[in-house]
Amino acid sequence: MIHVLKHVESITQHRDRTLLELGVASALFELVKALEVNLYKVTEHGEDIFLTQVVHVGPEGVRYVQEELSDGEETIPVSQRPEMAACVEQNQIVLRHLAASGQYLHCFPIQAERRTLGVLEVVCSTQLSEENLGTAEGFLGLYRNYMSLLDYSERDTLTGLLNRKTFDENLGKILTALAVHRNSVGDDSPLRRRQQDDGTHWLAVLDVDHFKRINDQFGHLYGDEVLLLLARLMRDCFRHQDRLFRFGGEEFVIVLRAGTQGEVVHALERLRETIESYPFPQVGQVTVSMGYTHIRPQDTIPEIVGRADEALYFAKENGRNQIACHETLQADGRIATREQPNGSMELF
Ligand code: GH3
Ligand code: MG
Ligand code: MG
Repeated sequence: MIHVLKHVESITQHRDRTLLELGVASALFELVKALEVNLYKVTEHGEDIFLTQVVHVGPEGVRYVQEELSDGEETIPVSQRPEMAACVEQNQIVLRHLAASGQYLHCFPIQAERRTLGVLEVVCSTQLSEENLGTAEGFLGLYRNYMSLLDYSERDTLTGLLNRKTFDENLGKILTALAVHRNSVGDDSPLRRRQQDDGTHWLAVLDVDHFKRINDQFGHLYGDEVLLLLARLMRDCFRHQDRLFRFGGEEFVIVLRAGTQGEVVHALERLRETIESYPFPQVGQVTVSMGYTHIRPQDTIPEIVGRADEALYFAKENGRNQIACHETLQADGRIATREQPNGSMELF
């Protein structure tokens, strides 16, 4: 009992999802004497369901996948793992015995908002006893409740998007991951070159056009309704790895992963067009302007947001209902090159 409580204490002191996930998987590994414990996230792309392994705990130690930098190598279609597919579809614990290795796979669904968001796999040499099944379920319950508490503190109450506080934490993590990656990958590696050439992370600031008019003409409640619907359109437009934030008022921030600028343009244009053609109840047409920039490993958060804001300002000044890229504007000489704090020039 004391042993279990120690694990609970160590799990609940974390306010970080990755540490929480590692804590739950490690606790179960020890308590039920598993051969390995794996945590998978479930994602949907249209009709297809995928699994991404995010945590592995085994006798050799722990491993986790940093979602910010993952290239998707750990992602497989759920159909490759029939026991996982059954677990996700039926939302119940599934047991599979592997005759070849003699192992027992126990798959536990992780459910939230009536959807299976993940699967916890406990691999053992025997079938889990009733008591150990209870322990596993107890830890999953703890994990679920704790995740929803974290979720609550990270989200904006009106739109359900991530809030401003979470933005700094998220972007900070991305910058650290990029810097670590840059230092650990050789200068001439293909990965390093690809990151330098195209960049993997981009930040866009979105601001509603003439939002004051909407409030003035229809009232604040309709204004809020527009923000709520906008958030829903944004969620439908972007992929699971892209992060959406309400930055405050009628400003939103999107952190996207994209290999090329072309992909960013495609995603942001699709959002702009979706919003432009959406019939907002009573209000009618609403348009938005966006400014975006490439996130570089050596950047600070204010520098990134500052560049995107400058591009947004340009989009507003040049007719609204459009997107603008800071790097492109600078290359075309339409906005000035700024001095860097260390005195060197910003070059592209
Ligand atoms: P522009 O195209 O230049 O962006 O014009 P704008 O009218 O949208 O100008 P601005 O971005 O400066 O104005 C934002 C307005 O949004 C000011 C405020 O009245 C309104 N607003 C800010 N937060 C909220 C909110 O949470 N709900 C509602 N209904 N309105 C908000
Ligand atoms: Mg604004
Ligand atoms: Mg505005």
